[in-house]
Amino acid sequence: MQVEIVPCLSDNYAYLLIDEGVCALVDACEAAPIRAALGERKLTAILSTHHHHDHVGGNEAFPGIPIYGHRSDADRLPGLNHPLDDGDTFQLGPLRIRAHHVPGHTLGAVAYEVTPRVGPRWVFTGDTFFLAGCGRLFEGTPAQMFTSLHRIAALGDEVLVACGHEYTASNLKFAAHAEPDNEAVRARIEAVAKLRANNAPTVPATIAVEKETNPFLRAADVATLARLRSEKDNFR
Ligand SMILES: [Zn+2]
Repeated sequence: MQVEIVPCLSDNYAYLLIDEGVCALVDACEAAPIRAALGERKLTAILSTHHHHDHVGGNEAFPGIPIYGHRSDADRLPGLNHPLDDGDTFQLGPLRIRAHHVPGHTLGAVAYEVTPRVGPRWVFTGDTFFLAGCGRLFEGTPAQMFTSLHRIAALGDEVLVACGHEYTASNLKFAAHAEPDNEAVRARIEAVAKLRANNAPTVPATIAVEKETNPFLRAADVATLARLRSEKDNFR
């Protein structure tokens, strides 16, 4: 599977998953850059991670395409025609897709685990699990976010995480504040700074790297996660 990262809006990422004639899109953030990235290819499906406009604003620009999202978002996710329940699996050509319901950022958030016939597994996490961070709790509770992050982390150390925004550098700044003695965080800050200096994306990262450097994943319990989340909300 070839994964093409499509920068959209100010700091969103959409993803094209390309394999044996399949071309699936994770999050139709906005139409124009996605159309440009598609070129001559035809879109096979849209996998929407959650209902926020900066993730679904382009859904209706691609009529006639299967659009997947969580069943509970039926009334607010534009174009949703393939509602999913937790654990649903389906096949797009060579790609095995598994939907994980991961409430926290929103109540209908879905992470898509993608297993290609060849190559590593990926998980597309929207605004629930960010590299070195986690999404704001707009609708869910700290307990829901805790469970959702750990569910994603349990997919396996080698799995590649691709999230909905380029927030890694600022997340790592907070990670260094939360865990000043974490050497892996310091090393990652340097690596990420080099990437960003070349305007390169920091996605994806392995779950193994996240376990070492993501303070929200390292939070031992829900109370710690809740404290970190509220500290981060006020962190500059
Ligand atoms: Zn969002």
